[in-house]
Amino acid sequence: MNEADEKREKEQAQLKNLVELQKKDNEINDLKKSLEIIPGQIAAGQKELEGKRGKMNALQEEIDSLKKQRNQLEQDAKAEADHMAKTKSKLPTVKTNKEYTAILHETDAIKAKITEIEDKELEVMELLDAKDQEIPGLEAEFKGEEDQFNQYKQKKEAEQARAQKELEEAEAQRATLVQDIDPKFVAHYDKIRKARENLAVVSIKGETCQGCHQNLQPQVALEVRTGVKVHQCQSCNRFLCFIPEPEPQTETAVPK
Ligand SMILES: [Zn+2]
Repeated sequence: MNEADEKREKEQAQLKNLVELQKKDNEINDLKKSLEIIPGQIAAGQKELEGKRGKMNALQEEIDSLKKQRNQLEQDAKAEADHMAKTKSKLPTVKTNKEYTAILHETDAIKAKITEIEDKELEVMELLDAKDQEIPGLEAEFKGEEDQFNQYKQKKEAEQARAQKELEEAEAQRATLVQDIDPKFVAHYDKIRKARENLAVVSIKGETCQGCHQNLQPQVALEVRTGVKVHQCQSCNRFLCFIPEPEPQTETAVPK
């Protein structure tokens, strides 16, 4: 192998490694992105579930409040019944018609009050019944949602663990890859990648840089295509490589 061939092979290997480095960095970026979004996805699911739990808690509170109302009405009814007994107990001691009429008025008023309380009690009991019947359905619904969330969480946590492991592997692979590249290329690559939307190595098409779409000097394009030298685009500074386009498939006409 002559010296020119050897140099050319070396340059090609450098370029190939830079292309690989970029692939690896893209992989690392994607993994970091998914690792960033997973905790938020789990938190959103959790929040939704809390909302469902809130709905159930609200129903339970409503039921508790109705039970309190029912107890109060029971006490009120009992107090009125006592009041009635006390009032009626006065009857044997009545001396005048006026007193008698007054007691009748009082018992009528108590009776009306008791009826009112009983009506209200009935209303509350019916409502309580209806609310009680809502519980099993809502509980089943919540349980279903909870199971679903737990499954989702498990899946996301597994995804997270997998991505974390893949990230560590990719970073180790990157470190190995970098060892095979000229440090001054690596430094330039890192700088360009940061400055130019994570794209530091681009292919040429004809005599055009596919990073900035500016024309290259014909000599540069030729050297990139033949791989004799590692070049950078004079406009955008990206490393230039040549990836031949796949041959267009010729369609064979099928007679109808
Ligand atoms: Zn360019």
